[in-house]
Amino acid sequence: MARNLGQVCRLCRREGLKLFLKGERCYTDKCAIERRNYPPGQHGQGRTRFSEFAIRLREKQKVKRIYGMGERQFERYFALAERLAGVTGENLLTLLERRLDNIVYRLGFAASRAQARQLVRHGHIQVGGRTVTLPSFLVSVGHEIRIAEGSRGKKVIQEAIELAQRRGAPQWIALEREQMRGSLRSLPARADLTMPINEKLIVEHYSK
Ligand code: SF4
Repeated sequence: MARNLGQVCRLCRREGLKLFLKGERCYTDKCAIERRNYPPGQHGQGRTRFSEFAIRLREKQKVKRIYGMGERQFERYFALAERLAGVTGENLLTLLERRLDNIVYRLGFAASRAQARQLVRHGHIQVGGRTVTLPSFLVSVGHEIRIAEGSRGKKVIQEAIELAQRRGAPQWIALEREQMRGSLRSLPARADLTMPINEKLIVEHYSK
């Protein structure tokens, strides 16, 4: 899947808000949003009027970028969200939050979701005592997520944990930092997800 690894800060500038894609840098004044909060490119500082289609598209792109997903994969999550009982937009956000890479990030074992994906792929994360290398694995209440025994001394993990102490863990996550493990107390409710996301626009985008 295509990923923009070189200039991820441009993605934040395009969306006009911090997507927290780079780890520690996102919490410093080196963050590109702090320095140049306007869209990248030659006409970035010009006045822009968005059509309704563009507004819905931008919302979908924003959420895709927050969770580091490609178009096809995102569409599959949307299709699954539609099939579940309840409100499609909220189902979508819950599914995205349940991804193993996201939970590793939320637990503070990685400084960004991209780093969490790498930790998972490289076999540093266990679910219920077994190594899982699939970042899209859907975590359920009751699963125990932990750093594999042999990976606990890794510098990137130690640094991420230190950074996360300043960030704090969401209340729907149960974290045992010393033991490098955690789990879900519950699935996140819509009110628990504080990123400025209007999921109704995404539902409209796919419904048109
Ligand atoms: Fe986005 Fe982080 Fe770059 Fe700031 S430093 S623009 S939050 S990726």
